[in-house]
Amino acid sequence: MLTDKDILEIRKSFPILNREVSGKAMIYLDNTATSQTPNKVVEEIARIYTTSKANVHRGVHTLSQEMTDLQEQSREHIRRYINAASREEVIFTRGTTEAINLVASSFGSRFQEGDEVILTVMEHHANIVPWQLLRDRCGIVLRVVNINDKGELDIEQFRSLFNEKTVMASFCHVSNVLGTVNPVKEMVSFAHSKGVPVLIDGAQASPHMLIDVRDLDCDFYVFSAHKMYGPTGIGVLYGKRKWLEEMPPYQGGGEMIAKVTFAHTTYAELPFKFEAGTPDFVGIAAFSKAIDFIEEIGMDNIAAHEHALLEYTQEKMVKVPGLRIFGTAPDKSAVISFLVGRSHPYDLGLLLDKQGVEVRTGHHCAMPLMDRLDIPGTVRASFAVYNTFEEADGFLKALTRAAAILE
Ligand code: PLP
Repeated sequence: MLTDKDILEIRKSFPILNREVSGKAMIYLDNTATSQTPNKVVEEIARIYTTSKANVHRGVHTLSQEMTDLQEQSREHIRRYINAASREEVIFTRGTTEAINLVASSFGSRFQEGDEVILTVMEHHANIVPWQLLRDRCGIVLRVVNINDKGELDIEQFRSLFNEKTVMASFCHVSNVLGTVNPVKEMVSFAHSKGVPVLIDGAQASPHMLIDVRDLDCDFYVFSAHKMYGPTGIGVLYGKRKWLEEMPPYQGGGEMIAKVTFAHTTYAELPFKFEAGTPDFVGIAAFSKAIDFIEEIGMDNIAAHEHALLEYTQEKMVKVPGLRIFGTAPDKSAVISFLVGRSHPYDLGLLLDKQGVEVRTGHHCAMPLMDRLDIPGTVRASFAVYNTFEEADGFLKALTRAAAILE
């Protein structure tokens, strides 16, 4: 378990945590939206821009080769980190959103009218709208798994939705609103028993737990670097090789071709078949440093610290009069969505900001979940490894004050 001293040491790598907001020491609790970035990632970006920047895979010159090596070393690092079987299964995208769009568009091109895709009511819009676009294109039907009052998936209903028309199941590993950790391994196993491939949206799991794609046996796993202490604009699509090989390209352009004539084009081997255009090679290289950061602390240590903060804060929060927490599953990551009395989440968010506390307010890109909960939105506080118990106390104090004002 990380000590207070360890956390203070970790915080030294995040100068942004020393800034003020509204004249108060900032307490950054919007980690679910994006986490802050340690110096070693920022320094790597600066180092590349000042010493090594050159386009990848396109040159024989030294700089281009150095940059290509850095990008491919990062791919190998990520492969190892998520335990993918080969580097060909690690595709770089702009983020989780693009990775899901890629799968819905490319893998989905085999689906036909009347085929069914299973989603859940707790999905982020990134795992809803790409399937709706596909529905508009080819007439698939979306089936949606509900939740219980704790914010856990109705697994019985999930099982009951499978039938001979089911072609895909796509669900989050961890809910960005409720924090619920879904039993994804069991869900994958059940889907496979029905011959149905699975995509797991790991945007909210990858920052908080180790991911082993071979142990999960999922067909696709997607996540974003910027939520894992990494740079913005980088994401990963893990896909089983057998699917990626069968799938048509998602976008056309440079990098993804083998030979182009006006009559006919052949495509590059994996992973490049899905990486059209110049990638964000600087961000990709720097992402490897973010994983170094996680590995040096240890994901188990990160998870234990965040969990301790979650328990500590939730236990005290419930004493605020009129406070309701959305998402009380026993297996929950360090996200607290809440409302106080009849106050609007924006008012609460503004009053917290005035006290230096940065939380997210609104529907959190999960409007169908808000409809299910019958609320317009929530306030959401979420923790990362650099948050302290002192900050949790600061948040609780600010929340108590804001709640009293809005009473
Ligand atoms: N899925 C989940 C569960 C998320 O929480 C998010 C972002 O908050 C996304 C997908 C989209 O991620 P990105 O905006 O990095 O593509």
